[in-house]
Amino acid sequence: MAGISACHVALLKQFSVRANLVVPILQRDNCWGLLIAHQCSHPRQWSRFEIELLQQLANQIGIALSQAQLLEAEVRQREELARSNAELQQFAYVASHDLQEPLRMVTSYLQLLEKRYQGKLDSTANEFIAFAVDGANRMRTLINDLLSYSRVSTRGQPFESVDAKASLEVAIANLKIAINETGAVVKYDSLPQIMADASQLTQLFQNLIANAIKFRRENVPPQIEIGAARSEKENLARSPKKNSSEWLFWVRDNGIGIEPQYGDRIFVIFQRLHGRGKYPGTGIGLSICKKIVERHGGSIWVESEFGKGSTFHFTIPENHDVLVNEIRA
Ligand code: ADP
Repeated sequence: MAGISACHVALLKQFSVRANLVVPILQRDNCWGLLIAHQCSHPRQWSRFEIELLQQLANQIGIALSQAQLLEAEVRQREELARSNAELQQFAYVASHDLQEPLRMVTSYLQLLEKRYQGKLDSTANEFIAFAVDGANRMRTLINDLLSYSRVSTRGQPFESVDAKASLEVAIANLKIAINETGAVVKYDSLPQIMADASQLTQLFQNLIANAIKFRRENVPPQIEIGAARSEKENLARSPKKNSSEWLFWVRDNGIGIEPQYGDRIFVIFQRLHGRGKYPGTGIGLSICKKIVERHGGSIWVESEFGKGSTFHFTIPENHDVLVNEIRA
């Protein structure tokens, strides 16, 4: 046992070791440990092949250890992200829910002021009260929209087989007044049966069609076309689930269109491209659409020709594993 200290030899003798081959397990230049081969039957000279084989094994162990550590760090990060997302959602829900009560109080006392002191205050005071009522009403709309935003994940229903055409028809029925008032024409063909949360699918269609009506061109009645097709390769390129087949839906309008540089911004919460005076709204509708589509494992984007119209596309995967995982999460 050449080159081995006396105490090491004594230790090996305890286990009847007659031949000993030791190679380091390296992990990014640091020695993580040793890989040792023992022979107890009789002493031996280790061949070059055996030494190299053991070293290669030790190298593979080093790589496997590094990968395991990376994986562990990634899992920890993902868990942390999921936890902070859940906290944020809970915060948004509690904040918007609990803000409703004091706001209701502000609104009712303002209305009381308006009623009780009608004709007794000067015009400036009346104007101030009207501004305050308007502000409170806007805040109520914002809070309600924020609540719907956070409810996409907190109150989502399990996915089931849904007739997309039926969901669309509910959305159209809900928008009947706006459709009649503007003379909008809504066209659609056959739509598929998909795995989805039925009421969220209706909400998605409804938000997109309501926008198509709201952002119409002056003196041009809205023409809205809804369709779906099994996704082709070029469409899959926009989707994160590249290998799974999916349904591509579109809602096309002939409205004011969107300048290309704003194509992504409009899906961010509270982002609007117009003042409230021209087109009312809170800037939450499309972020709700995005959240609904992402909850279903799909993606959403817009293609538009400014001044001529927009087409909103969204995908819903057919891959049931994605959906099952989502339900469990
Ligand atoms: P809101 O409708 O309350 O403004 P959204 O989140 O639904 O909020 O939309 C964000 C912005 O995207 C809108 O303010 C508008 O500028 C733009 N937008 C959405 N849909 C359309 C559309 N169909 N045509 C043109 N612009 C649109």
